[in-house]
Amino acid sequence: MHQYQHFIGGAESAPAEGEYFDTENPYTGEVWAQIAKGTAADVDRAVTAAKTAFEGDWGALTATARGKLLNELARLIEVEAPRLAEIEVRDNGKLIAEMSAQTKYMAEWYRYYGGLADKIEGSVIPSDKPGIFNFTRYEPLGVCAMITPWNSPLLLLAFKLAAALAAGNTVVVKPSEFTSASTLEFMPLLEKAGFPPGVVNAVTGFGKDVGAGLVEHPDVAAIAFTGSDVSGQKVYESAAKQIKHVSLELGGKSPNIVFEDADLEAAVMGAISGIFAATGQTCIAGSRLLLQRSIHDRFVERLVEVAREAKIGDPMSLDTHVGPVTTPPQYQKVLDYIEVAKQEGAKCILGGQPYNGEGARGRQFVEPTIFTGVDNAMRIAQEEVFGPVLSIIPFDTEADAIRIGNDVDFGLAAGVWTNDIGRAIRMSEKLRVGTLWINTYRAVSFTSPFGGYKRSGMGRESGLAGIREYLQVKSVWIAQNTSVANPFIMR
Ligand code: NAD
Repeated sequence: MHQYQHFIGGAESAPAEGEYFDTENPYTGEVWAQIAKGTAADVDRAVTAAKTAFEGDWGALTATARGKLLNELARLIEVEAPRLAEIEVRDNGKLIAEMSAQTKYMAEWYRYYGGLADKIEGSVIPSDKPGIFNFTRYEPLGVCAMITPWNSPLLLLAFKLAAALAAGNTVVVKPSEFTSASTLEFMPLLEKAGFPPGVVNAVTGFGKDVGAGLVEHPDVAAIAFTGSDVSGQKVYESAAKQIKHVSLELGGKSPNIVFEDADLEAAVMGAISGIFAATGQTCIAGSRLLLQRSIHDRFVERLVEVAREAKIGDPMSLDTHVGPVTTPPQYQKVLDYIEVAKQEGAKCILGGQPYNGEGARGRQFVEPTIFTGVDNAMRIAQEEVFGPVLSIIPFDTEADAIRIGNDVDFGLAAGVWTNDIGRAIRMSEKLRVGTLWINTYRAVSFTSPFGGYKRSGMGRESGLAGIREYLQVKSVWIAQNTSVANPFIMR
């Protein structure tokens, strides 16, 4: 069986304590590889490699040279995309159809930020002080730790890594303990593209050891974290002790809001895509479907008709719609939430059980599940399930839709379905979310900022906003003529 090592200083590196842990295929339930179990010594070696690169070869490169390396990496990713997609599917059980497109598309983040690398310009500030020249320069932060979850390991890494490298930082990555293989398979591409050793390192292991160890390491300047709000809060608290720069991409409980004037067939497909695509294991899941009461019954009827047809089974098969839940704890969590919803009085009108039918080779399958009669105060409407479980909540007026839509701790995304342009604009002003889709759902691009309001996090990834997370601005003052000034008075 293949044993994966850490990747430190441009080469594979065995774990200091010689321990490994298993990684499973969620579809078959089989252990298919072993992953290096990191400890504090491994974290320290990786951070030291990143620090050495930052102060050495990498720091000496021009921004144009960094951009060229990123473009070469993008080219290699496109070549390797099919292989990386298969590894993602083997490790996280998401559909090959989605993962193939995702690993290929991921190259665009490296290309976009490769182009941006030498276009980060400071400015000359019109100074109000005679004889003093003032300009700004944008500088990298230093060693950045990147901690990623299991649902889209390589894409979520691309959001961070491409921007951080373009800005001139060096990096230590810690992927999820459930899906480490794809990140480790990706590392040699950096080497092949020509990045100096130590610019990007990967240490695998558990959150409490490697993740927390990176956050606490004194030579790590910034942490980019994607994961649950509970872990994100711990990271934020720990980083505060050393006043580190933190960006957090956390969970969601996004409302998908359908008004009676919408194209209802398009909205039905949008609702399905919002909750059953990726088996609901996406931070942007439209897990609360808000339906205007006048269309509620006929919309639900059509939604159930389409959801019932979803083909459950092997994620490697191109005609599968819903794959397994990725991890055993997550599978149990989804089933627990279904019980909570039933106990709270929500009405289960579809699914609600583990799926053991045709195509369900392994364990970990949950039927696409729909609840009606959900009150927004119920736990099933307030807490992130991260599975194929939809809560339907009726509303009467636009004001009700805004109130219910915003009445959660999260604020990652929302969908609105309407043909009324005035209403679309009003909703875009009132919904407290980082991403809003109108008459579409689940669109994401390297060009557009992505991130959360409220408990969904802080900071933005992708687009021009994404690179600002990895830069700091320095203001430089130069006296054109030296003169002796009164030292007790501010210049
Ligand atoms: P998780 O919080 O359990 O783990 C995420 C990562 O953090 C893992 O690598 C884990 O090992 C590490 N970790 C855990 N505890 C840590 C600690 N104390 N210190 C440092 N690192 C620690 O999340 P998960 O179950 O892997 O992923 C699912 C969650 O991720 C969901 O809440 C989902 O909404 C969120 N997510 C958010 C986005 C976004 O962009 N907003 C994208 C994808 C997933």
